[in-house]
Amino acid sequence: MTVLVLGGAGYIGSHTVKALCDKGMDVAVADSLVTGYREAVDKRARLYIGDIKDGDFLDSLFKSEDIGAVIHFAAYSLVGESVENPLKYYENNLYGTMTLLKSMVKNGVDKIVFSSTAATYGEPERVPIMEDDRTEPTNPYGETKLAMEKMFKWTAKAHGLRYVSLRYFNACGADTDGNIGEAHDPESHLIPIILQVPNGKRDHVSIFGTDYPTPDGTCVRDYIHVTDLAEAHILALKYLINGGESDIFNLGNGVGFSVREVIETARKVTGHPIPAVEGERRAGDPARLIASSEKAKKILGWNPCHDSLEEIISSAWNWHKNHPDGYGK
Ligand code: UDP
Repeated sequence: MTVLVLGGAGYIGSHTVKALCDKGMDVAVADSLVTGYREAVDKRARLYIGDIKDGDFLDSLFKSEDIGAVIHFAAYSLVGESVENPLKYYENNLYGTMTLLKSMVKNGVDKIVFSSTAATYGEPERVPIMEDDRTEPTNPYGETKLAMEKMFKWTAKAHGLRYVSLRYFNACGADTDGNIGEAHDPESHLIPIILQVPNGKRDHVSIFGTDYPTPDGTCVRDYIHVTDLAEAHILALKYLINGGESDIFNLGNGVGFSVREVIETARKVTGHPIPAVEGERRAGDPARLIASSEKAKKILGWNPCHDSLEEIISSAWNWHKNHPDGYGK
């Protein structure tokens, strides 16, 4: 049986492809390479270049490969961009997923694990956040991910397909071998932006808001190592293969760190002063996002092991200092 990874040339996708290959699984990757990188795809996997909005491309993949399950990362994921260009997100994330589901149903592929996000919750009612808490996204990115979840729910009911939706909190860090890591263009995530300072790519980091109702006034997030996320996808896949019912799981460490704490830890790890400038709030940022991942631990047997912020930032720094231009594209 082959596992098809859509978006396997992206950040979390490439780490999951590597983890699947390390476990001896047979892997095919499909990626448009619009935001992904060919170099990020493990050489043990077969890479097909194409778009999930192209039903013929998907049908031919399902016909030529013996695909037993799909892991779906192929979506746009920049919050700010989604606010400026919502239809780009509706088209890619929703139309792309609809085309994928049609092709899966047509070709009799009935198991899928897919990337969702803490952005489906919006401003949380309480922390830690549980899976059945209110979902009221505050941006089109979160809205399209929530709509994807619902598209899976109804398609599963109608066509007997089963899915696992994984709601990631703040994905970060890099594989320990240092060959793959985070590379977005433009970069918008906190840890890679901070590390651009010791890398000489910017002279300071801006803190987006210092008047939040948190202990030091800056936003608190649950930072989860990409290798732990990759492991969760494999466990979710096994869960579906063993007959598990469709379900939704949060993935986080259950511990929150403020923007100031992240910057301070990066200073320690890199030995660089990393100047920080206090600025205005960024629109749509909740004060605190912390996951309860008890459900994933209990049902999937997930056990995130990279929970120290220092270790997370060290692994990210190991990648960024050796790849200041990402994959060089
Ligand atoms: N952030 C910041 N400066 C930056 C980038 C991000 O202060 O240059 C803050 C942002 O407001 C949020 C946290 O860092 O509170 C994490 O942001 P990121 O974009 O990495 O992830 P998000 O929480 O939006 O998924």
